[in-house]
Amino acid sequence: MNPVFQYRGGMLFCEDVELQSVAEREGTPCYVYSAAGIRNAYLQYAEGLAGIPHHICYAVKANGNLGVLRHLATLGAGFDIVSGGELYRVLQAGGDPAKVVFSGVGKTREEVEYALEQGIHSFNCESEGEIALISALARRLNKTAAIAIRVNPDVDASTHPYISTGLKEHKFGIDIAEVAAVYETAAALPGLSVQGVSCHIGSQLLDPAPVLEAAQRLLGLIDTLRANGINITDLDLGGGLGVPYQPHESAPDVPGFLARLKQLISGRNLTLFLEPGRSLVASSGALLSRVLYRKQSGQKHFIIVDASMTELIRPALYEAHHEILPLRESKLGTVVADVVGPVCESSDFLATGREVANVMPGDMIAAMTCGAYGFAMASNYNARLRPSEVLVDGATWKQVRRRETLEDLIRGEQNEQNGTA
Ligand SMILES: *Cc1c(COP(=O)(O)O)cnc(C)c1O
Repeated sequence: MNPVFQYRGGMLFCEDVELQSVAEREGTPCYVYSAAGIRNAYLQYAEGLAGIPHHICYAVKANGNLGVLRHLATLGAGFDIVSGGELYRVLQAGGDPAKVVFSGVGKTREEVEYALEQGIHSFNCESEGEIALISALARRLNKTAAIAIRVNPDVDASTHPYISTGLKEHKFGIDIAEVAAVYETAAALPGLSVQGVSCHIGSQLLDPAPVLEAAQRLLGLIDTLRANGINITDLDLGGGLGVPYQPHESAPDVPGFLARLKQLISGRNLTLFLEPGRSLVASSGALLSRVLYRKQSGQKHFIIVDASMTELIRPALYEAHHEILPLRESKLGTVVADVVGPVCESSDFLATGREVANVMPGDMIAAMTCGAYGFAMASNYNARLRPSEVLVDGATWKQVRRRETLEDLIRGEQNEQNGTA
């Protein structure tokens, strides 16, 4: 568990804030993030890369809350975006567009134009069609678009198949064996500055070795491209480092990984870009929830809570494990139970067959390590209101998003009686 979360006197704290009191005042379900936890994770990258030209571009899709983005922007982070909407969020949070890289296989014309107008650092391009579109739009707007090409290095990230992206059969990037020709074509197009090589091989990597392997392959490619007169200045290795979700897992050795990367690129005249998402925010977030009911079916115990797959879909989607902790340590021992939510789906669980504190209706629990891909993947399925979010800093906390209201649920919908088209 991230040391920013700790029990003191039987109560779970985030930094110096007792979470039971947050849950009582803010209501549940509610996401809580630790500013210190995020800062520590960011500084680990920043300190590890000190001394070489670099940008740490936080992957907004992990957690796009404006409070989180503003906190990271203040620390000096750049941003990796995958949509125009994420660029809008970054700009609203005071992020610097000159430190933004735009990834993703399906950028639309409108998104490319918006990014060009805002002056982002570069586009990570994933197809020849996309490169041609960016060239045409840059010309029309009288701009030069910096681009990198996302290379598929054919490295096996050995992670969950749904979050592995670096093998030939995946939809991402352009095969490293074929990409040199694409660089030649791009270099001949107007409106483009072809200056980067990028990759992102997967997520939740507890072992960074595959990223180092990819780095080596990309450095070889950069040598070839430079020999062909294409002046590559940027190397972007994506994100993907994991966090321990289970007590027996350990965090990747981030300082060791960064030291090795520094060695690999030193003297090569490259600016290094990294796009960490999960590893900057996951361990600094928890989802607070209240126990609604207990029930037993045969030998099986159910703990029914007010958080569900609409707040945290990772268990249903990836069979992900999140530790379940009571906000007040239980005097009733433990029970093996399924912790489930109110949504009408059998996959709506936070934990199954898990030994957890023997919590009773009214007690509060926290699902841990929820700072990444938690709220970001929340939905209104079953017409549920998306939860509030809170940012803790030292002994203080503030709401950074209010809980949705019933009016929010129908905003934008037409609701006329006898309405005709
Ligand atoms: C998702 C994604 C990231 C961030 O991945 P994490 O595993 O959260 O670090 C970075 N770059 C790209 C292109 C992505 O799609």
